[in-house]
Amino acid sequence: MLKVIQAKDIKSSELNLKADVVIVGSGAGGAVMAYELAAAGKQVVLLEAGPYVPSSQFNEKFPDMLETLYQDHGGQVTKQGDLLVLQGRCLGGSTVVNGCVTFRVPDFILEKWGAEYGLTNLTPETLSPYFEKIERNLSIHTNQPHEINQNSRKLEQGAKALGWSVKPLQRNTKDCALTGHCLSGCKTDRKQSMLVTYLPWASHYGAQIYSDCLVTEILTDSGRASGIKAQVTDPQSGEKVADMTVKADLVVVSAGAIQTPLLFLRSQLGSQNDSIGKNFACHPSTMIVAEFEKDIYTWRGAMLGVYMDEFEHPDKGGFVLEGGGAGPMEIGMSTEPGTGKSYLEFMSNAKNYASCISLIHDHNVGQVSLKDGQKQIDYELSDDDFPAMKLAFKAAAKIYFKAGAKRVFLPTVDKRIVESEDEIDNKIDGIENTPFAIRMVSYHPQGTMRMGTDPGRSVTNEYGEHHGVNGLFVADASLFPTSIIVNPQESVYAISNYIADYILANEEKYFTRLN
Ligand SMILES: Cc1cc2nc3c(=O)[nH]c(=O)nc-3n(C[C@H](O)[C@H](O)[C@H](O)COP(=O)(O)OP(=O)(O)OC[C@H]3O[C@@H](n4cnc5c(N)ncnc54)[C@H](O)[C@@H]3O)c2cc1C
Repeated sequence: MLKVIQAKDIKSSELNLKADVVIVGSGAGGAVMAYELAAAGKQVVLLEAGPYVPSSQFNEKFPDMLETLYQDHGGQVTKQGDLLVLQGRCLGGSTVVNGCVTFRVPDFILEKWGAEYGLTNLTPETLSPYFEKIERNLSIHTNQPHEINQNSRKLEQGAKALGWSVKPLQRNTKDCALTGHCLSGCKTDRKQSMLVTYLPWASHYGAQIYSDCLVTEILTDSGRASGIKAQVTDPQSGEKVADMTVKADLVVVSAGAIQTPLLFLRSQLGSQNDSIGKNFACHPSTMIVAEFEKDIYTWRGAMLGVYMDEFEHPDKGGFVLEGGGAGPMEIGMSTEPGTGKSYLEFMSNAKNYASCISLIHDHNVGQVSLKDGQKQIDYELSDDDFPAMKLAFKAAAKIYFKAGAKRVFLPTVDKRIVESEDEIDNKIDGIENTPFAIRMVSYHPQGTMRMGTDPGRSVTNEYGEHHGVNGLFVADASLFPTSIIVNPQESVYAISNYIADYILANEEKYFTRLN
């Protein structure tokens, strides 16, 4: 069992700790940072706002796990309300509930970051050893034939028939049990999330891990980070148990692309250019469903099998389709079966549906901010991104008809069913970019603490260090200057490890109490 200090273990109402480094958040960015610094001999305290839920308590019931493991119990939405933004809020963060798909940040994205944001340090060559290390450590492998289910086979079949590039996905799993319950957490620890990899490894090297600790303020002293303030809360009762202060030479914030900027704003650490929380991107994702004569059982087998990358480059469309991601409930939610008789009819065909999800390379048009002290996420699908969304629908529909579908259900709020290939363009061209037109969900918030060399256009420098406060680092998905189009976890791990190495290579600059 992982050694975690929880609210129930805390007996005094005030805790005062000291460390070399305090890390906020235990997800992709925080866990890797904790391990790398602890393994190098640093005293690490890591604080996680969410609870510690051991895998044995994951029950494979999605509604229960949304309640237990997700931010806002799975109900985090934008101000407008038409985009659900899913994030993990538990020890291990979103890595505990994610779909296990892994990608390296595409080279063309790194080139753009170099050219437009001065990140010439983040080349494919520099990052390659980091990706290789993460891939080894997390058992990342290409899906084997048995990990590609009937659902993904339909996407593969249609795409191949059209001559489009389609490939098996890579995933961070060890001997996947093919239950398809990834988003409820992996009961058998086969998903190589932070909960079962980097956090135990960090603990082995002495990192002190606290759950139930919401960091409320970043402390600074004469232009340097000096620690944090936090509040320990009992996850059951919601009652405050203790106030906590951690004094440290270095503060690393890895609270994710929504909470990281909010913590900076609450700490009144605005940036010179007022860009904290701006440039939010999120790969607004949709699910396209097709009905076949044959039984598919989308929910049987590994959750995500193959992806269609023919149109991945922005010049070719800027979207990808990934085969998978749905049980009967999700299919119902994305296709509006109606109520009563129509609901029963629709759901009784559930085993005949296939589904894929679309990801688009959206521009950074959103914003995360505080309104009267409360979180607000502003995001509307931009007119510039709408064509990519529609191209994704068209491609999915073409693929499914080529694979023999009877009809294709579009993820629109008005019920749009494409009955034949001939109807594709007409039905999809008729969708308008108005609020609530499309059923969207985001799993990939990014970009709110943009990194770059120009303090006028970014919040952190090219190593994730705040432009204005020494020793204050960000290491999470909020750093990405643009959306990366593919699933982000591996890129967060690699960049966090890269930043950790930078810190260690410059330790005399950051640690006053050298070991
Ligand atoms: C349902 C779902 C499916 C996904 N599927 C995939 C996939 O298949 N492949 C992929 O690559 N990516 C996937 N992702 C995204 C991926 O998991 C994230 O991009 C990645 O984990 C982001 O890392 P992070 O460190 O920025 O944040 P997170 O991993 O979200 O970690 C942030 C942590 O900080 C904690 N925190 C927040 N505020 C505070 C505070 N004030 N004090 C203390 N702690 C705080 C949070 O509780 C959370 O645990 C998925 C995400 C979700 C939600």
